[in-house]
Amino acid sequence: GQVIEVNELTKRYGDTTAVDNLSFTVRPGRVTGFLGPNGAGKSTTLRMLLGLSEPTAGTATIDGRPFRDRPRGLRHAGALLDAGDVHGGRRAAAHLAALARSNGIARGRVDEVLAEVGLAAAGRRRIGGFSLGMRQRLGIAAALLGDPPVLLFDEPINGLDPEGVLWVRGLFRRLAAEGRTVFVSSHLMTEMEHTADDLVVIGRGELIAAESVAEFAARA
Ligand code: ADP
Ligand code: ADP
Repeated sequence: GQVIEVNELTKRYGDTTAVDNLSFTVRPGRVTGFLGPNGAGKSTTLRMLLGLSEPTAGTATIDGRPFRDRPRGLRHAGALLDAGDVHGGRRAAAHLAALARSNGIARGRVDEVLAEVGLAAAGRRRIGGFSLGMRQRLGIAAALLGDPPVLLFDEPINGLDPEGVLWVRGLFRRLAAEGRTVFVSSHLMTEMEHTADDLVVIGRGELIAAESVAEFAARA
């Protein structure tokens, strides 16, 4: 299995330190929650892991190498980032087909992942008409498209209805049981108690705890 390793990672935007000398490890075969309040630095860390943003200092690697050194793209790691920023004029299946094409993934995967996230009937609809929950499902479909060993999900619960929340918890459990590395950010401790095995807890860009959910919950 592939390990996510963040080592003395720092990101500054002018006077703002978004991520502050952060170090942690995320192991395969488990669901690891990335817990912290809004503004704690979770998205910034995930973006650096995916090579979408450069660290000011330190390293963020998947299986020992920075993501940008990976030619395999979505087949190496899949991510749900900001579900809001998908081109609204596109139809859902066409959006996934374009991602498949640019990542060397078979077109047949598009219908498979649409079915897997419960959007089989919505493939020909324009993304602009999707609810936030449907956009989250589409973002999860994009993450699954390349059948990657490593999956990152940024606030996946936002916008999902209660049934969707139960579905996504089951999906994460299944992905972890298959031996994948599953890293899920949230600002909700209660959600992570239901979803995660391990926690990486941050505040103001700094590490607060890295331990099992049971150990963290026992601190109270
Ligand atoms: P989280 O995902 O935990 O809510 P973020 O990583 O989005 O936190 O943000 C961490 C901090 O970095 C916040 O103070 C945020 O305002 C700041 N930040 C994030 N991205 C930028 C950016 N592109 N430019 C300036 N500040 C940013
Ligand atoms: P482009 O400008 O080429 O469309 P993006 O800004 O969408 O690229 O993405 C930049 C990089 O991040 C690309 O290498 C792309 O493969 C990768 N990427 C985009 N979306 C995802 C995702 N959901 N999961 C993992 N990597 C992604």
